[in-house]
Amino acid sequence: AYVIAQPCIGEKDTACVTVCPVDCIHPTKSEESFEAAEMLYIDPASCIDCGLCVDECPVKAIFPQEDLPAEWAEFIGRNADYFKTV
Ligand code: SF4
Repeated sequence: AYVIAQPCIGEKDTACVTVCPVDCIHPTKSEESFEAAEMLYIDPASCIDCGLCVDECPVKAIFPQEDLPAEWAEFIGRNADYFKTV
């Protein structure tokens, strides 16, 4: 799956949400306002690895999991954990 990392924090541009063919990028939990959300997350169970979101991101925050810079490895769990709690 693709992973959204550190550069998204505070950015929350939603161009990736618009382009995702399976609507698996979510900016907020249902009970939380968009303004309160820290960043966007990709649901790893739904992502089909199409890669379309990567070039849409103005801050280059999205990576295939295998290409994620090591210092952002924690974001693999942060993306996945987000969907466990929705
Ligand atoms: Fe959506 Fe494709 Fe990005 Fe996965 S790689 S989050 S399916 S746009």
